[in-house]
Amino acid sequence: MRSIFAVMCLLLSSLSFAAPLKVVASFSILGNLVQEVGGDHVQVTTLVGPGEDAHVWQAKPADLKKLSGASLFFVNGLGFEGWLKRVEQAAAYKGKVITVTKGFKPLALEDDHGHSHGKTDPHAWHDPRAVLLMVDQISAALQAADASHAAAYQANAAAFKAKITQLDQRTAAAFAAIPSGKKKVVTSHDALGYLGHRYAIEFFPLQGISTEAEPSAKEMAVLIRQMRKSQIKAVFAENISNPKLIEQIARETGAKVGPAIYSDALAKQAPANSWMGLFEYNTQAILRALQ
Ligand SMILES: [Zn+2]
Repeated sequence: MRSIFAVMCLLLSSLSFAAPLKVVASFSILGNLVQEVGGDHVQVTTLVGPGEDAHVWQAKPADLKKLSGASLFFVNGLGFEGWLKRVEQAAAYKGKVITVTKGFKPLALEDDHGHSHGKTDPHAWHDPRAVLLMVDQISAALQAADASHAAAYQANAAAFKAKITQLDQRTAAAFAAIPSGKKKVVTSHDALGYLGHRYAIEFFPLQGISTEAEPSAKEMAVLIRQMRKSQIKAVFAENISNPKLIEQIARETGAKVGPAIYSDALAKQAPANSWMGLFEYNTQAILRALQ
């Protein structure tokens, strides 16, 4: 009798330990990073989903509900989630907010004349070295919130970081093989600065750092002139943007539009339904267009 009681107790306690930690990530790419580190021990919900644009996103009541009952809320920071404070207040969220870019030295944004106005580029997930730091932040936060699975979080983070480092090295070698004058790419909005910074690719975005403002006719003309002058042939729209203007630019310059790049959100389906898949897909598409 006593042994049955002991088994029951053990079962009950293991059941309560097995309940995953409820966490929320602000957008799909970050949600995947948290999932990689958390594994089976976390239940990740994301606010801005696959294919959605975080710059212009608006919370629905169902989104606010996701935050109630969550222990941790992972956000990118660097101004990416302009709606963050409003959402936290509207959801009356009392849990911890983890900014995964905390302590980063972000890329400064420059205007047309090369001046920085103190604004920073939030799209840090396009540099694998930044993602390594994000994984450390995520791992530390999960370990602090759920010490009973600290070893698992550490192991997951270490394995994931090893894969990220390999991918980064492979990608660096591939881009290094292309002459530097040829590494010029046109995109919809200014989301790939970190990718450019890491692998010495020059990006010519049609829109600024956010997707809010449409480019003017003058900005379009400047870009078209630049493309003709520099003979830029690699042109990409993004999964979160309307491809119409990019297609128009390609028509006027005779460039060919490549497959949509995944800039600020994952895809619903493979291959770009994880950070790793997204990164591999984007860099392979760009490499093909440049070769
Ligand atoms: Zn963006």
